[in-house]
Amino acid sequence: MTIESVPQFGFGTKAIHSGAPIDSTTGAVIEPISLSTTFAQSEPAKPLGIYEYSRSSNPNRDNFEIAVAALERAKYAIALGSGSAATALIIQSLPINSHIISGGDVYGGTHRYFTKVANTHGVEATFVGDLAADLEASIRDNTKLVWLETPSNPTLSVTDISKISQILAAHEQKTGNKILLVVDNTFLSPYISNPLVHGADVVVHSVTKYINGHSDVVMGVLATNSDELHEKFRFLQNAIGSIPSPFDSWLAHRGLKTLHLRVRQAATSAQKIAEFLSKSSGVVKVNYPGLKSHKNHEVVLHQHRDGLGGGMISFRIEGGAKAAAVFTSSTKLFTLAESLGGIESLIEVPAIMTHGGIPKAEREANGVYDDLIRLSVGIEETDDLLADIQQALAVATA
Ligand SMILES: *Cc1c(COP(=O)(O)O)cnc(C)c1O
Repeated sequence: MTIESVPQFGFGTKAIHSGAPIDSTTGAVIEPISLSTTFAQSEPAKPLGIYEYSRSSNPNRDNFEIAVAALERAKYAIALGSGSAATALIIQSLPINSHIISGGDVYGGTHRYFTKVANTHGVEATFVGDLAADLEASIRDNTKLVWLETPSNPTLSVTDISKISQILAAHEQKTGNKILLVVDNTFLSPYISNPLVHGADVVVHSVTKYINGHSDVVMGVLATNSDELHEKFRFLQNAIGSIPSPFDSWLAHRGLKTLHLRVRQAATSAQKIAEFLSKSSGVVKVNYPGLKSHKNHEVVLHQHRDGLGGGMISFRIEGGAKAAAVFTSSTKLFTLAESLGGIESLIEVPAIMTHGGIPKAEREANGVYDDLIRLSVGIEETDDLLADIQQALAVATA
């Protein structure tokens, strides 16, 4: 019996025990790091065990993949060298002259890949602000894939995954064309949402964020229930070579074991901070899925575990870019830096940092104004984080 095959075990039990066998030769409770690049064979083409060469597969990567598959309720997971490598691999799996439809405010690097790289191998992308409303009208004969990030980055609008999946299923019924639904679940982590359960074909993560959670590994992962997709992606991963190292796989697996504790704590603090900000003068608008006033709060209640809003907040501050610069330079616990999902709290100004590469008009059409501030709430004490936000707001609005 393996832990991951017991359906009644809860998330935390699976996080700790999935892909974590006791070492059969030494009894080690924690797996060793398997650095060997090659594995001995008894006769030509007869490996002693299941491994041959570490690009093709490696024990630490296998174990991490087993754990992610268990947490995402997937049959398969494939770990990659970064979240961006996962995006690239999925898009490279499409035939030349494919069309893809992407949600409007996606991760900056995803936008860059779709507009500046995918086109060089014959894949064209259309961006749609509100997929739930406008997806159908954007579908073409050669549309092969829909890319959805929920909550979106950095404005945190939430999309109903099952609604998108139903639109694509109806299209397939009518035309016979299957369009894949890929959901980037980085912002919520598998603890809060499992997109495959809501009808996605593939879920992707930047492991760099919540899954590893300690800001010391760059890595990505994708997961699916489809045998056919899994085989295709596994072939490409080996052919392209976009793999994580054994050490990074081991570290990310260690990080994953506390995912439920970290995400629950971050979401609890974020909820309090968002509630404070939404009542404060000097704050124009707060985007946080856990607020009752959030425009997609109904979807949050059925799509997110316990209606949790996650650890990410964004808000507009009165006083424009200048006030945003003062606020983000005045926090003492929130470090001014890109990235998110770590144990330590971070703060940034998307318009000139993470989303600086997107043209201003397009950026503002998606709500990314110069006065927008994004928080990644970490797992320091809630009261300390709240006090830090309060004092920075006092400085910025003085
Ligand atoms: C960071 C991030 C990525 C890219 O992942 P890397 O590991 O940095 O390559 C993709 N999507 C989202 C939502 C992200 O936050």
